[in-house]
Amino acid sequence: MSRTALLTGAASGIGKATAELLSNRGYSVIGADLKGTDISADLSTDEGRQSLVDQATRLSDGKIDAVLAIAGLAHPTPATVAVNFFGMVSTLTGLRRTLAKSDAPRAVGVSSMASLMPVDDSLVTALSAWDEPAAMRRAGELEGTEGDQLIYSSTKKAFAQWVRRNAPSVEWAGAGIPLNAVAPGVIATPMTAEYTSTEEARREILEMVPMPLNGIAEPEVVARLLAWLVSEENSHLCGQVVFIDGGSDAVIRGDATW
Ligand code: NAD
Repeated sequence: MSRTALLTGAASGIGKATAELLSNRGYSVIGADLKGTDISADLSTDEGRQSLVDQATRLSDGKIDAVLAIAGLAHPTPATVAVNFFGMVSTLTGLRRTLAKSDAPRAVGVSSMASLMPVDDSLVTALSAWDEPAAMRRAGELEGTEGDQLIYSSTKKAFAQWVRRNAPSVEWAGAGIPLNAVAPGVIATPMTAEYTSTEEARREILEMVPMPLNGIAEPEVVARLLAWLVSEENSHLCGQVVFIDGGSDAVIRGDATW
């Protein structure tokens, strides 16, 4: 029987490539984004997050086999906090009960190689405490300062940690739902156009994020990993943040993870 997948960020980049791949593989795909997809919902607000869950439940007749939380922003502003952390986690938790009804439920979200870069500790603490007002306040303080570059990395680190902490819990692993994340390096999408459209910009970004295996990737590369993570073949991967980064993590962290 055909599987149903719900994807956020389906209008562009990695989300669009993944929606197309899953559709080609026979999934019934429900795409969500700000506009231009089956569901229009603004994940920066509580109302938008609830509307996503309500519409997804209705369109799927209450049966979703795979949730892929992909939508994100890379602006050095508080909106990035609202979408990348609270929007992404709310997508996953809001649809968890619906997922649990599937015979082979799967859930995945998108962190980033940036999660390994410097972060703002106060912001990560507020995110970990699920304190949206404090997180938005802290991001507002950082906005327009040199520290605003830490907003994006902080959201991606907090999300990776949320996945690690929650995946083994009764709600996820205990309900038979593998919950994982991917952490892409530099992917050529509209989000990174300013870093990937000229040779000089590519050289500069690759100095920051070295990708010895094949360099900057197309979104289809990440789509294939996401598709495997939500496939029935993935029965035992739990709480992993899979770096799909041409080897950046191995170059930067070496064996520091053990
Ligand atoms: P993209 O800009 O092409 O797509 C992001 C999508 O998210 C857009 O369609 C956008 O409309 C949607 N979105 C933004 N704000 C939203 C909101 N408030 N509500 C609903 N949807 C909203 O970017 P992408 O590169 O495909 O990024 C996808 C994910 O991958 C993001 O979470 C991003 O942080 C992550 N990522 C990207 C890269 C990269 O190099 N491109 C690297 C690591 C991680």
